[in-house]
Order: sequence, then structure tokens, then C-alpha cells
Amino acid sequence: MMTTRAITTGQTPSPEYDVVIVGAGFSGLYMLHRLRGTGFTARILERASDVGGTWYWNRYPGARCDVESMQYAYSFSPELEQEWVWTEQYATQPEILSYANHVADRFDLRCDIQLNTDVLSATYDESAQRWRIETKDGPPISAAFCIMATGCLSTTNTPHFDGLGTFAGTVYHTGEWPHEVVDFTGQQVGIIGTGSSAIQSIPVIAEQARHLYVFQRTPHYTVPARNRYLQSDPETRHSGRSAYGFDVDLTIEEIKADYAGLRERARNMFAALAFTPNRKSALEVSESERQREFEARWQSGGVPFQGAFIDLVSDRQANETAARFVRKKIGETVHDPVVAKALMPTYTFGCKRLAVDTGYYETYNRTNVTLVDVSRSPIERITPNGVRAQGCEYPLDSLITATGFDAMTGTLLNIDIRGRRGVSLRDKWAEGPTSYLGLGIAGFPNLFTITGPGSPSVLTNMLQSIEQHVDWVVACLEYLRERDIPEIEATPDAEIAWVAHNNEVANDHIRSSCTSWYIGGNIEGKPRVFMPYVGGFPVYVEKCNEIAANGYTGFSFGAVSA
Ligand code: FAD
Ligand code: NAP
Repeated sequence: MMTTRAITTGQTPSPEYDVVIVGAGFSGLYMLHRLRGTGFTARILERASDVGGTWYWNRYPGARCDVESMQYAYSFSPELEQEWVWTEQYATQPEILSYANHVADRFDLRCDIQLNTDVLSATYDESAQRWRIETKDGPPISAAFCIMATGCLSTTNTPHFDGLGTFAGTVYHTGEWPHEVVDFTGQQVGIIGTGSSAIQSIPVIAEQARHLYVFQRTPHYTVPARNRYLQSDPETRHSGRSAYGFDVDLTIEEIKADYAGLRERARNMFAALAFTPNRKSALEVSESERQREFEARWQSGGVPFQGAFIDLVSDRQANETAARFVRKKIGETVHDPVVAKALMPTYTFGCKRLAVDTGYYETYNRTNVTLVDVSRSPIERITPNGVRAQGCEYPLDSLITATGFDAMTGTLLNIDIRGRRGVSLRDKWAEGPTSYLGLGIAGFPNLFTITGPGSPSVLTNMLQSIEQHVDWVVACLEYLRERDIPEIEATPDAEIAWVAHNNEVANDHIRSSCTSWYIGGNIEGKPRVFMPYVGGFPVYVEKCNEIAANGYTGFSFGAVSA
């Protein structure tokens, strides 16, 4: 059993732990579980009223994962893998949230999770070699190590719209959706944004609303999910096959029989996601073979479409063949040619994160859906009655902002984090985030970020990345304790070299060729830096393992002058 003792700092009794973890999403839950049995005392501080992170907050209609559920699941426990039953190929938000709750209960984590606790600041006390963590309510908490498991997409972004506060109806953000059911039946609804969240919710809301107005600034590439039930059911048409991957046709039982094999294949893939990529170049094959390959993947569904050819992300001409194919599909699906044209993206395919949808383009054929193109002239203002754009007022009962997140850095910088000599992370990252491996930050000893900027994180199946980071951090903590080392910190030189390597791989990459949240392009004034590591999961893991095996090269065990 873990123990907690109260120490006194000034007048305030301060609980003291070996490790404080901020966040009870999949990162925080696994970190707490891994620390169990190691002898480290640990506590999670979570601002929400329950566990689940992303899946606690994003309850909008149609929310589900776009990584197949059998892969978007922890791999650390074979028993958990075997006992949990996913009902659909792409799990819904309620099902993923109940999985997170199941994990918290099954591994008895709740007693060390403090909910409704908003962390405001974390300050490193150099003389005590401890972090002092202040929360909105309650006494400060002291910890030798502070783990930021705060998520990459956990601070919503609502851009400034003149008059937003005057709107007489209800405003919803997809990332802060109410817990009670929102019924749009009979309503005029507006939605701003056409990213992944909007693409998932638009078809569902369109079925309910009297009329849905979609305000689109930039069209997004999306491919059909072709979601299926995973359970064989003789009463229905569902066979329960095709549980994962392009051209791989397995039942849930067959996958479970070799779950470890699936995980191993995933870990060897660029995005830590198992599917069958085509090793051919899009430019080396005939036009008919190219179309056949794209068509087969379009019919099969999901992100394996991106694996149609090996050079879709490395060669502009190859990339354009995929872009043209998707535009052709939009043209064939959407009846009104003007609407179809407005929905066709012209930037590089896959630059913004590819969305996976169910009936998205088809929705624009409904008579109760209107696409309002705000690409050339922005939304003018929000009025008490609705949205004013293109010189018209669109009267609305409800307005949804599907405008995304201050991704990767926003949540960390909302916390006042101060390292050596009181230097704040906000100042250090004023020109953009810098880190060593997305795990450690020079000047901030004994602080780790799970899937921080500079790690593959959002470019991968996040569950795999989370497990890899947590396992690495726990091994590091054990290494320190075995050697009686109280402090670890990324060296400035290692951080500079890692950032340079990140920039080098990102600069020519298709992912950095357009404005997206990957480069902070969705937030006014945010430095334009490509934030995730785009070198691929296997290369990254090898680097992390090598660093650990060599005694944590690039980290110092005590103060280093900057
Ligand atoms: P989160 O789940 O974001 O959890 C972080 C937690 O930290 C939150 O609960 C938050 O409340 C808490 N927190 C933050 N700041 C504080 C503070 N100051 N004080 C206290 N608590 C704090 N990834 C995939 O790989 N596949 C998908 O299909 C996929 N779908 C997604 C769909 C949506 C709608 C979104 C938004 C993201 C999706 N992601 C997906 C990414 C997703 O964020 C990760 O897969 C994963 O859930 C992240 O887990 P986490 O624990 O690292 O972070
Ligand atoms: P997003 O991709 O950032 O999309 C935000 C949308 O809002 C964009 O269409 C953007 O247009 C628009 N927008 C922003 N400001 C605007 C303004 N002032 N006027 C008009 N439009 C404006 O956010 P998201 O859809 O929430 O997705 C974020 C990430 O979360 C995804 O990329 C993905 O990683 C994850 N996610 C995954 C899933 C899933 O399928 N599992 C679902 C949802 C989210 P511009 O493009 O012009 O900026």
C-alpha cells in the first residue's frame, strides 16, 4: 500500500508524494497503474469530475475514434485485452469512456485520483529538489517528480467572433460538450468549422435539426470509415469480420488469438498502427492500377487509404494523385456542383489530419443542410439571432463551435510552470516549444511530459505512444532510485540537438506544408513551429531505448548551467 504523509510548508499542511501526475486520461491512468507496486507514492490530480480525459470532454454527437478500437486500446494487460469487448470497428465516445472507467475500476486506481482539482501552477524548489503544485482549491502538494499527463488536445480554442456573447441561443463547443443529451430536433443549428470533430458530428446533427448551416473556412480531406459491428450476429447482416486493417479480414476472436502479434506489427509501423501499406510508388504504376488501389482502399475504409502508395507523404506529384481521387469522389457524391467544388480541398493531401467519416459528403445532398463558404470573406459577426456571413444573417437556435484546440502546448502553458531560478515555461516557450524527446525540458528537472511536443504523439495511434512514454519514464524513475539520484534534467545541448533534428525532418515534410494546428497555425499569435516529431514511431522508440540503455545520455543528474 502506498502512504501519504502531511508535511508543513509555512502554515499550510502539504501532502507529499514521490510522484504527482496531472491528468486522468489514458496517460495518467496508465502512469498511476505502472507506479503501483514500484514503491513510489503517487497521486493524480484531475480537473474533471471523472476519468477519461478526451473522452470525458468530447461528447458531441457522432464522436468516436478513427483508429480501430482493437488497436485504440491498452496493450499492457493481456487479461484486459481478452476480456474487454469492443462492439464496433470504430468505438463510440461512450464506449471509450466506459473503457477508461473500467480500467480505473479494474486496476483499483480511483483511490489515488483526486477529481475536480484544477492545477494552476507547479514550481520547482531547487533546494528541496521538489515540485510544489498549487491547485485552485486545496492546499499545495509537494512531489519529487511531476508528470504532466495533460493531453495534446485538451484546451479548446474558440476564436474571437464579434458579438459571440450577444447570441440569444445556446453556444456549444465540441470539446466541452454538456453531459446531458442535447436535442436539436426542430432547431435551426449552425456549426463553425469542418475539421474532424465537425465531420463526425455534421451527419448526426443533420438528421435531427430542422436546418443545419455549416460555416466552412477550409475544406478538409475525409475518407469513409465503413464502420462495422464486430460481433457476429446471425440475426443481423453483420458477420463480425474485417475487424481491422485494409485487406485483412479477421474476426475479433482471431485478433484476440494473436493480439500480441497485432501490437508488434503496429509498433513497427510509422504511426504505430497496423495495416497493410502498399510499397509501390503512385508514380510507377499505370493510371488504371492507381485508381484500382485508391478505390479498393476507399471501399475498405479508414486511414489505410493513406497507405495506398509509399510516396503519398514524400512526393508532391504522388500526393496530388490521392488529392485528385478524393476530389473526384466528392464530385461524384455531392449533387450540387457548386457545393461539391466548395468541399474540394486544394492543399496537399494529409497535411491537415485526415478525417474519417460516416456519410459526410452525402449529408450535403440533404435539403435541410446548407454549406456557407466563408473562405474568402470571414464570418462578419454573431448577432443575437444567429451568424452574419456573406452579407446575410443565418437565424439560429443553437451555434456549435467545432473550432478545435490550442494543441500540444496550450494546456501546459495554462499551468504556471516554473523551473530552475524561477524561469517560467511560458517564457522559455515564447518562440515555440523546445524539449528533449518530448519527455524532458532543460531547466525543468524531475518534470516529464507524456506525449509532449517533440514526440510522435498525435501523428500516431496515441495509446501506443502513451504506453511507450509511460514505460520509459517509470524505468527512468527506477534507475534514479536504484542509484540514489535525486534529480534528472535534459541538458540544453541535447535539447537543442533534438529540436534541430525535429525541424530538419519536419521542414520538407508534407505535414508542414499547410496551415494546421500541428504548426500552431489555428491560434492567432502562436509561434509557427511544427510540434510533433514526424520521424516515425519506430525510429523514435529506438532513440529513446538507446538513450536509456546508455545511462540516459542527454540528461544530467544535477544542475547544469544553461
Ligand atoms: P487527455 O485525454 O487529453 O487527458 C488529459 C487530462 O488532463 C484531461 O482529463 C484534463 O482535464 C486534464 N488536465 C489538463 N490540464 C489540467 C490541469 N491544469 N489540472 C488538472 N487536470 C488537467 N487519438 C488517437 O490515437 N486515435 C483517435 O481516434 C483519436 N480520436 C480523438 C478524438 C477527439 C475528439 C480528440 C479531441 C482527440 C482524439 N485523439 C485520438 C487524441 C486523444 O487526445 C488521445 O488519443 C488520448 O485520449 C490522450 O490521452 P491523454 O491522457 O494523454 O490526454
Ligand atoms: P480542427 O481540426 O482544428 O478544426 C477546426 C475547424 O474550425 C477548422 O475547419 C477551422 O478552419 C475552423 N475554424 C477555426 N477558426 C475559424 C474561424 N475563425 N472561422 C471559421 N472557421 C474556423 O479541430 P477538430 O475538428 O476539433 O480536430 C482537432 C483534432 O482532434 C483532430 O485533428 C484530431 O487529431 C482530433 N480529433 C479526432 C477525431 C477522430 O476522428 N477520432 C475527431 C475529432 C478530433 P481552418 O481549417 O480554416 O482553420
